[in-house]
Amino acid sequence: MGEAAAKLPNIVIHEKLCKACSICVDFCPTNVLEIKGSCVAVKNLAACTRCQLCDLRCPDFAIQIFD
Ligand code: SF4
Ligand code: SF4
Repeated sequence: MGEAAAKLPNIVIHEKLCKACSICVDFCPTNVLEIKGSCVAVKNLAACTRCQLCDLRCPDFAIQIFD
């Protein structure tokens, strides 16, 4: 039970849709994301609170959070 509760979220990035605008990086309250080259990347998955802000704010539907 305890381990299931600690399961990390799944952050799906659609590289073809992402234009590295950094909006999701700026909105993420726990600094999970970073821009790497021409795409966003996950740098600290453990810090993700599943708040969905990145998913909601991305204008290009390029990032999705799954529980
Ligand atoms: S769901 Fe929230 S905490 Fe997780 S990466 Fe997106 S903005 Fe950051
Ligand atoms: S907001 Fe969307 S397009 Fe912009 S960097 Fe994040 S995932 Fe990429």
